[in-house]
Amino acid sequence: MRRGHRDDLRLQVTDIHDPDDRLHEECGVFGMFVPDRDDPITESIGRVVYYGLYSQQHRGQESAGIVVAGDDGLEQHRGMGLVAEVFSDRLLDGLSGRAAIGHVRYSTAGSSTIANAQPLMAQSKLGTIAIGHNGNLVNAPVIRDLLEDAGVMFQTSSDSEVILNLVARSARHGLRRAIQDAMRAIQGAFSLVLLTEDSLIAVRDPKGIRPLVLGKLGESTIVASESCALDAVGADLVRDVEPGEIVIVSGEGIESLQLNERTQSQVCSFEFVYFSRPDSEVDQVSVYASRMEAGRILWREAPVEADVVSGVPDSGVVAAHGYAEASGIPFGMTLIKNKYVGRSFIAPTQELRERAVSVKLNALRRNVAGKRIVLIDDSIVRGTTMRRLVTMLRRAGAAEVHIRIASPPVQHACYFGMDYPSRNELAGRRGVEAVREMIGADSLAYLSLPGLHASLGDTGQYCVGCLTGVYPVAAPVGLEKDELPPAIAERDAAAGRRG
Ligand code: SF4
Repeated sequence: MRRGHRDDLRLQVTDIHDPDDRLHEECGVFGMFVPDRDDPITESIGRVVYYGLYSQQHRGQESAGIVVAGDDGLEQHRGMGLVAEVFSDRLLDGLSGRAAIGHVRYSTAGSSTIANAQPLMAQSKLGTIAIGHNGNLVNAPVIRDLLEDAGVMFQTSSDSEVILNLVARSARHGLRRAIQDAMRAIQGAFSLVLLTEDSLIAVRDPKGIRPLVLGKLGESTIVASESCALDAVGADLVRDVEPGEIVIVSGEGIESLQLNERTQSQVCSFEFVYFSRPDSEVDQVSVYASRMEAGRILWREAPVEADVVSGVPDSGVVAAHGYAEASGIPFGMTLIKNKYVGRSFIAPTQELRERAVSVKLNALRRNVAGKRIVLIDDSIVRGTTMRRLVTMLRRAGAAEVHIRIASPPVQHACYFGMDYPSRNELAGRRGVEAVREMIGADSLAYLSLPGLHASLGDTGQYCVGCLTGVYPVAAPVGLEKDELPPAIAERDAAAGRRG
């Protein structure tokens, strides 16, 4: 091969990714209950939960934990880092029991320390209780103040401990009543797994803002944030946990309680746009199919003449396939992702971010030079990453770069667990032409809000609060619209992230 040709083919390695310019996942939960104490699977329950967490690593990379209900009560193992870093083979070999829960965490409320790593545990009249939580409460500070006034000492700064203490305080009324009382007191987004010495409990908030599914592995019951975790452990999907439902799994069987009157789910639309894995189904909607359809609709709403359609790895790729299919323009890879990028890239504090090396994507010059490119991404947050990508493609010789975004502009805060920059940093507030100019693209278009709903099947209701400013649950008490919840604002102020 001629040297010049080799140079042409060589990938350009450039640090382009601004880790602050992404939406960050918040948490994933997993739980398992084995009805027969003599079932051999009790010996490897720790490994099943480990695989369940491993498959949901995309939902949180800061800490991981497992609590097992064994012969000697609840046993807790937590650590900072990825699931594979926290749990060794030796540790997993020792985790046996009839029931277990696990958690992977990205901190959106409460700081990133081992004390906040979940599952959390507390003592109560029911014995030890453990909790794993995905979501954010909008009234946690108010309840925390009330509990502190009543003498409760908090060990952590997380919302989840508020829930745990509410359950523990009502424990004298029995498990059902304690959980129902706690669920009635809290507001916001919460998909929970709780573990006592003899039962596993799954709870989803009345609006079903975060996903939660039930599955079966043999005779065992599995609970997970995403259905891909059921696949990972060889379990079958049974159904979604309903909004406002409490599922109690014990040696007596499975009991379902409805918190209030059955309500319509308003699951987070960004679970489909970005957060969930494409091989998951959320409330019976395939994440993959919704992204494909978003791409097809995006072509109909914002067509452009081009030579190649490409997606930003990973979450823009499926929508790019949909755009290519609808347009007849060939799909091609123009950006190659370094697979060995570690969790440091999504570190939540400024100090860690600055120390982290930028995420790397490489322009594939062979597919880019002289071509008119349509590049699809799931969303634009601040726009800094997209500006670098456009620059990278132009340096690699792109004749034109047209950006298409498979969601409407993000313009408002999220109160339910997603870590957004402050509203002034959100590119979506500036208008399409200003953002196009800022990122240096030849054209820019977003999916419309009706287009997003159509991509989801037009049958359900979805939270679109960060797109419209209208939320399924009112903003936290005392906050103006778009103001950030105190835990997030305080953390970011401490990290020097917001002004
Ligand atoms: S505000 Fe946005 S990110 Fe937050 S739950 Fe609603 S749709 Fe999801």
